[in-house]
Amino acid sequence: MNKLIKAASMIVLPLILLALAYMAYHNVQALSAPQLDLVKLAPYPVFVIGGGLAWKFNRSREFFLLLMFALASLSLQYLPKLPGKEASIALPGLYLLLSILLPLNILLFSLLKERGIFSLWGCIRIGGIAAQAAAGIWLLMPEQSGVLQRLNQNLMPLNLPVQTPLSQVSMLVFAMAWIILLVKQIRRRSSQDIACMAVLLAMFYVMNLEYQPVAYALLWIVSGIILVASIIQDSYAMAFTDELTGLPSRRALKQDMMKLGMNYAIAMLDIDHFKKFNDTYGHDTGDEVLRLVASIVKEVSGGGKAFRYGGEEFSILFPGKSIQDTVPHLEELRERVSKRGFALRGSSRGGGKTKQRSKARSAKAVKQIYITISIGIAQKNEKFKKPDAVMKAADTALYRAKKKGRNCVSK
Ligand code: GH3
Ligand code: MG
Ligand code: MG
Repeated sequence: MNKLIKAASMIVLPLILLALAYMAYHNVQALSAPQLDLVKLAPYPVFVIGGGLAWKFNRSREFFLLLMFALASLSLQYLPKLPGKEASIALPGLYLLLSILLPLNILLFSLLKERGIFSLWGCIRIGGIAAQAAAGIWLLMPEQSGVLQRLNQNLMPLNLPVQTPLSQVSMLVFAMAWIILLVKQIRRRSSQDIACMAVLLAMFYVMNLEYQPVAYALLWIVSGIILVASIIQDSYAMAFTDELTGLPSRRALKQDMMKLGMNYAIAMLDIDHFKKFNDTYGHDTGDEVLRLVASIVKEVSGGGKAFRYGGEEFSILFPGKSIQDTVPHLEELRERVSKRGFALRGSSRGGGKTKQRSKARSAKAVKQIYITISIGIAQKNEKFKKPDAVMKAADTALYRAKKKGRNCVSK
C-alpha cells in the first residue's frame, strides 16, 4: 500500500503540471501580442534555474536535457528568422529533425548512467549534443534536402484516424522511447523516468499541433518544471532515506517523533556483538548483514514503523501503543532475526534478494551465521512525557537487555 502511494505521488505531480499547461494553452491565446512575446521568453529562466539546480545536485541527465531543450527552443525561435538567403532555414525541416532528435535523446539520456556533468563523460555528452546541433544545421541546408525527404517518407502505408503532421519515423521514435521507459519503470521505479515519460507525452502532443510558438514555450516551461520537480523529489527522498538499508533515516525519525500523539511506545534495537562480526568477516559482509536485519525489522508487526537510528541500531515508533501491546511483536521480531541464518560464502553474498539468498544457500555455503538483536522498549507516561525522554528510557532498557545477556527484550 505504502509502495502504491509512493508510486502514485511520483506520477501525480507531472500529470498535474501537464494538465495545467494544457489549460494554460487554451487560455493563453486571449493574451495581447506583447504578453505572448513574454510567454515565449519565459522558458529561458526555467532552463537557467533548472540547469543550475541540476548542476548543484549533480544530475547530468536533467542538465543535458535542459541544455537540449534550450537549444531546440532557440533554434525554433531564431533559426528560421536568420537574415541572408543562404542562412535561411526551412521551418518544416527543423520541425522534422527536432521531432526525431528530441525523443531519441530523451531515451538515450535515460539509458545512460549518471556520470557527472563536468567530468570526462559529461564532456563527451556535451560533444554529442554539439555534434547533433552541427549535423542538424548541415542537414537543413537546401543541398541536403534529400536526407530530410527520406526521413519524412512513410515507412508503411498507414490509414491513421487522425491527421498528424509528425513523420512516421518520428512517431516510431516517440513510441519506442515511451515503451522502453515504461518497461524500465515497471522493472525499477524511478521518478527520473516518470519525468521523462511525462515530458515525452507533452512533447508528442505539442509536436502534433505543428508549429505553434506559444505551445512550444509552454512545453519547454512545463518540461523544465517536471525535470526540476523530479530532482527535488529525489533529493527529498534521499534526505529521508538511509542509503544502505533503504529504511527511513534518523531525520525522518526526528520528524515522526514530533507527530506522536498522547500515547506511544518507542523501541530501540541493537545488533549484538556487531563489532566482532565486522572484525571477523569484514565490513562488506557487515553491511550485507545490516541490510538483511533491516529488511526483517522493516516488517515489524503491531503498527510499528522502523527507522535506522545509526550504525547497527534501529528505532521503532509505535503510535497509540503501550509497552504491553508491543512486547509480543518485538519478541516475534527478535526471534525472526535470530532464526534467519546468513549464508556466508567465500565472497560473502546473500543478504539481498530472495533469489540471491537461495542461490547463496545452495552454492557451497561455507558457513551459516546467526545474528541476534537486543531490544529496549519504553512508553510515554508520567515519568517520560516527551518523545526524547521516552527514547532515552528505551535506550536504558536496551542497555539492560545487553546486560541480561543479549538476544532479549527489556522493558
Ligand atoms: P553490543 O552487543 O554491545 O552492541 O556490541 P557491538 O559490538 O555491537 O557494539 P559496538 O557499539 O561496540 O559496535 C558497533 C559496531 O557496529 C561498530 C561498527 O564496526 C559497526 N557498525 C556500525 N555501523 C556500521 C555500518 O554501517 N556497517 C558495518 N559493516 N558496520 C557498522
Ligand atoms: Mg550499538
Ligand atoms: Mg551492537
